[in-house]
Amino acid sequence: MKLLFATGISLLLLTSVGTAQEAMVRITRSGSQPPAIGIPDYYTGIVRKEALFDAEAPARVVGGVVTYEPGARTAWHSHPLGQVLIISAGVGLVQQWGQPVQEVREGDIIWIPAGVKHWHGATETSRMRHVAVTEALDGKSVDWMEKVDTIHHDG
Ligand code: MN
Repeated sequence: MKLLFATGISLLLLTSVGTAQEAMVRITRSGSQPPAIGIPDYYTGIVRKEALFDAEAPARVVGGVVTYEPGARTAWHSHPLGQVLIISAGVGLVQQWGQPVQEVREGDIIWIPAGVKHWHGATETSRMRHVAVTEALDGKSVDWMEKVDTIHHDG
């Protein structure tokens, strides 16, 4: 899995700097970026975030891996230019504001449209990990809102 991610990053970097004169291909070595714990204001439960890549301008795509322990999730939030989530392990939940909770599994790909209020996380009994690919607008890729209070999930 790590090798697969590394190959993806290299391809993205090659694409993003392809036209610049002095731009150089940059390799971020596996294991060189220590994981961070999700800030309690923005997450419930135990959430581990690992940076993957942060593209150089004019590209503005940011990539990371987030692992949610059972019962952990994000607060409500939105993304100014949207977000792609690729579920890489476990079983999770995603919900759009005003819509039912949906269950997602390894291999599922979720598109969150720009400005749509939502949250994502693990189920109460399973861990979930996703790759998140998010574009930043003026350096900002997320707008945080309130915590998720009650989850109504029948799946
Ligand atoms: Mn999101």
